[in-house]
Order: sequence, then structure tokens, then C-alpha cells
Amino acid sequence: MEYIRQLPIASDDDCFLCRCRDETDDDANLVVWRGKHTIAVLNRFPYTGGHCLVAPYEHVPDLTDLPTETLTEMMEMLRDLQRTLSEALHPNGFNVGINLGRCAGAGLPGHIHAHIVPRWEGDTNFMPVFGKVHVVPEFLETILKNIRQASDTLGLPY
Ligand SMILES: [Zn+2]
Repeated sequence: MEYIRQLPIASDDDCFLCRCRDETDDDANLVVWRGKHTIAVLNRFPYTGGHCLVAPYEHVPDLTDLPTETLTEMMEMLRDLQRTLSEALHPNGFNVGINLGRCAGAGLPGHIHAHIVPRWEGDTNFMPVFGKVHVVPEFLETILKNIRQASDTLGLPY
């Protein structure tokens, strides 16, 4: 609890998901797709390569704030990301989830987002060891390019 209490709360004025929504440089912001109600972005501080976030355009904290068409599109984007990340990166599995509230692990509690994290056999063995190593920007750019190529190959509508 001590650790959780000292974590900085991301201010609603400085929300990177709103910035991704509002700015136009999708390469710089690592925006993968823009849907009608939702946006998909590569996590700049990934748990594994290809870790993506799916968020509604609205800056709201809870599932209960979202209309059905937005919830549906979030789930469709997660499905399409699973297909695309499988095509691009060939992971062995995925974690998919939503953290609601700071105590549940949300790093940005004001703007709800779902995580999809590709997993490989054995990645938990090396991630704690290399956890402090920062993923270099070139690596993220390459992954973004690979995801977009796979997305085109699959003929997805984003
Ligand atoms: Zn926001």
C-alpha cells in the first residue's frame, strides 16, 4: 500500500491517450489504428514487444461510462490486434486485460484502456532480469511497421 500511495497520479491534463487522439503524427505517437470510437496505440513502455493499448476516444475512467458501440469496437480491435500481432510477431499466447483504478494497477486511471500483451514461451524468465532496460525507439518503430504490414496483409479496415 505504501508503494501504491506514493505513485504519481497522471493528471487529466497530461493524458497521453488524449494526446494520441488529438495529434496527427501517428508515427511519433505510435498510433496503430484509429477506429470510429476507439484508438489502438503501441505501449511506449511495453511489458513485451508489441504490447498495445485500446482506448475509447472519450477521456472517461470506467466501463460504465461507455456506450455499447464503443465497448463493441474495443473488443473488435482487441480481436483484430490478436490476429495482427500473431501474423507480425508469432507469439505463443496473449494477456488481455483492463485495470480499473490506481489500486488495481491502472497507470492512467482517468482514461480507460485495455492491454493486449503478446507472450512467448520463457519471456517471464528474462523479463525480470532485463526489466530495467529501456526499449529503444527504433525497436518500437520496427514493430509498428510490422504490425501495419500484417494489418494490410489481413485486409483489416483501419
Ligand atoms: Zn485521456
